[in-house]
Amino acid sequence: MRQLRALLLLLAGSLPGLAPAAEISPLPSVSHMTEVPMAAVPFDLATLKRNWRARIEAMRATGVMPLIDIESNLGEELDMPGFARQMDSEGVALIAFSGVPQGRGWSDAARYAVAADPWRYIPTGDGGLPPDWKRNPEGFAKTSRERIVKDGYPLMGEYEFRHYPSPDQIQRGRTDRDEHLALDSPAAHLLFQLAAETGIPFQIHQEIEDQYLPVLEKMLSQYPKARVIWCHLAQMRYQERNTIYGAAYVRSLIERHPNLYFDLFSGPPKNPYPLSNEYPGKYWNHESGQLLPEWSQLIADHPWRFMIAFDLNPFIMKGFANKVRIQRAVLAGLPEAAREIVAYKAAWKLLFGEEI
Ligand SMILES: [Zn+2]
Repeated sequence: MRQLRALLLLLAGSLPGLAPAAEISPLPSVSHMTEVPMAAVPFDLATLKRNWRARIEAMRATGVMPLIDIESNLGEELDMPGFARQMDSEGVALIAFSGVPQGRGWSDAARYAVAADPWRYIPTGDGGLPPDWKRNPEGFAKTSRERIVKDGYPLMGEYEFRHYPSPDQIQRGRTDRDEHLALDSPAAHLLFQLAAETGIPFQIHQEIEDQYLPVLEKMLSQYPKARVIWCHLAQMRYQERNTIYGAAYVRSLIERHPNLYFDLFSGPPKNPYPLSNEYPGKYWNHESGQLLPEWSQLIADHPWRFMIAFDLNPFIMKGFANKVRIQRAVLAGLPEAAREIVAYKAAWKLLFGEEI
């Protein structure tokens, strides 16, 4: 059996265009995650972390900079072996796998994902997405509390507060995805309390607008122990609504709020937001496609506060390689010393309180 496996590996490695995926970590043996029973809870993080460390080390040994994606929403329909191969060939070590509840209250998709592939996914609580979160924010926040604590998730998902329709939603005619829940609403307080009490970080989607900055700062000050990832650094969809936000403002936020982190997801540099026709990715030089010096300097000065993200959802999986390429372009714009921290070390430290 071992000889056969070695032969297969040799064959796979010798075929052009095929990455030697199985050498980095084992591939899932089922096509869909729901073909296996979901993982027992609380999650066996000690065993999982051993796998994940080995995987990161294996990637490093091949000379690839491993990436940890801190924010993606995925579902049970994911092609497990196919996507595992893509992750391996793109040098994506781990994805924080946040399920999509789709009206079911809670999906448990992350439990299936980890059971079917205990090498590639960090189980993350379901995201605060419609319809569940929109219909009953406090109810969903309470469910989050129960499940996050009982199941032992190391990370909560992305909760949408102010959220304009995203480009892929506009393409699908979902302009109703214009969400607005105040960041100091009762449901928001429940989440900040939960994060503060447990130390488990959570993620917010909050569009950048002058009028929302004071309330964000108020919540960060009121809950200094709640660790918050403000998703999608510098993704500004309407410049006319902004006079404050920029690299200098983010620097001052970081210096005043030790509990604040950012994910770096961005679309391509020249990719207009369809409703405003503006380029939303403000950290890019839109002509050269490179990171602007002031943003590079900010990230370099505070690398432990910034993390890679692909912001995947089941509708945009075809864009995976492109999203990886864009995040690697951000890393390329950073000084050498900051790259490895932002690529995966900052995420590991935030989630597990230790350096890798
Ligand atoms: Zn988002």
